[in-house]
Amino acid sequence: MADELTGLGVSPGVAYGTVLRMAAPPVVPADLRPEGDAASETAAALRALEQVAAFLDAKAAQVGGEAAGVLLAQGMMARDPSLSDAVAAATAQGDSAAHALVAAFDLFRSALAAAGPYMAERVADLDDLKNRAVAGVLGLPVPGVPEPGHPFVLVAGDLAPADTAGLDPSVVLALVTEEGGPTSHTAILAKSLGLPAVVACQGAGALADGQAVLVDGGAGVVLLSPEDAVVRQALATEQARRDVFARSSGPGRTADGHAVQLLVNIGADSGLAAAAMVDAEGVGLFRTEFLFLDRPDEPTVEEQQASYTRVFEAFAGRKVVVRTLDAGADKPLAFITVADEPNPALGVRGLRTARRMPELLDRQLDALAAAARRTGAQVWVMAPMVSTPKEAADFAVLCKARGLPVAGSMVEVPAAALRASQVLAGCDFLSLGTNDLAQYAFASDRMAGELAELLDPWQPALLELVRLTAAAGIEHGKPVGVCGEAASDPLLAPVLVGLGVTSLSMAPGSVAEVRAALAGQTKADCERLAALALAACDGREARAAVAAAVRPA
Ligand code: PEP
Ligand code: MG
Repeated sequence: MADELTGLGVSPGVAYGTVLRMAAPPVVPADLRPEGDAASETAAALRALEQVAAFLDAKAAQVGGEAAGVLLAQGMMARDPSLSDAVAAATAQGDSAAHALVAAFDLFRSALAAAGPYMAERVADLDDLKNRAVAGVLGLPVPGVPEPGHPFVLVAGDLAPADTAGLDPSVVLALVTEEGGPTSHTAILAKSLGLPAVVACQGAGALADGQAVLVDGGAGVVLLSPEDAVVRQALATEQARRDVFARSSGPGRTADGHAVQLLVNIGADSGLAAAAMVDAEGVGLFRTEFLFLDRPDEPTVEEQQASYTRVFEAFAGRKVVVRTLDAGADKPLAFITVADEPNPALGVRGLRTARRMPELLDRQLDALAAAARRTGAQVWVMAPMVSTPKEAADFAVLCKARGLPVAGSMVEVPAAALRASQVLAGCDFLSLGTNDLAQYAFASDRMAGELAELLDPWQPALLELVRLTAAAGIEHGKPVGVCGEAASDPLLAPVLVGLGVTSLSMAPGSVAEVRAALAGQTKADCERLAALALAACDGREARAAVAAAVRPA
């Protein structure tokens, strides 16, 4: 194996540690035959279940508190006598231990799913138990994010939002994935947790557990077994980089005082407290669908209101731009997403789900309005995946009818960028979702590592769509921000400002660096850099031209 792997650096920072791979859920070969008689197969399956239960007990003792209760309950499920009875019944029919476990869990699963929404939530726990027990019987690695009890570099094929919901940034040092592009959820998650990350990393699949690696999430390089001196030097350079931007504070401004609002992107509740501590003017993108992931049913208006209230209270007195549910495509939700859409990214996702289930959006807006009334945040609401001026205007009417005074549209579909002036005529602000805008402008799946270069936010065609949209804002005297991953690139931020955007919203960990980058350029510098980027032939050339012309910090 080469002594270095390269991929796309999607979240800057340097980390050194040992690799642990995320194992996929085990698949039981259809033709697996029992090795022994029914009694010995049953015994093997029950041993695996007991090992899982013992692991959960030990973990519960380690974590304590409320989390311990959840783990102990999961352990009790593994020891449930009716589960062992179902296993024994399956082996008596000639099933192998692994097949018997699958059959028994399937029985339980359907019973739970049918027992109402609360019990249906336990289905995910049950699947986790099954996968652990089956992996145990087959001698395969335990699926999911590993928990070795020490820090490590997580290596995976790709990470879905649900895989990483509980990922602990104090033990995961960096992320390296074989798949994924600059706007994939691995990239977004890594930035939100401040973890260095390299995606679309060729050869990552061959990395072995325990391999020492130095991950550079800015350069997109993974060094294998680096020498001590190299590690020391890289970590010292990283510290110096952090020291430079840690000194910046206050509202975003160019060197000549042109104001650019700096905001944070938030999703799951877990990062809320840390995001609220960041020196930013508020939230530019609250991805509400993260509250709904992993749920079999829609949260009630009261549950939603409680979640929104937590966010608004954390940002009391500041602006919070809430995006209504953006389900579908890479963020499927059990209770909304149509399973058999031939092309989900082009299907009924984002605001389009309101065509099919308008009451879902009504209930979300009701919950948002109630939470906004109870708290002191300045709540702005915007819809994802708006394509036409009419959609934007209709959405604004729905918001205003509930007393939500500021309603906007995301610009993620090229049609909305091309008609930005008409879209903005019917609402109060626009927010460019450059992740999806790149996906749709370049007809390139944002999860496809192979197409990462087309999804590069530096692509001049994408920047042209940003320019058109920002021009509409200038024409109407209304705000136009960027909340896609493009906003967190400190070299690209001055370009976006030069194109006319008025705010940048990004992962909390990127704010200080972007603020420092803007403070180094005047508004005229930003416009000059924007012209250079627009004139380039491709993303790589645009970045190089701007890097060469930028005023040094
Ligand atoms: C975007 O598409 O740029 C965006 C901000 O939305 P998401 O990444 O959640 O699709
Ligand atoms: Mg989007």
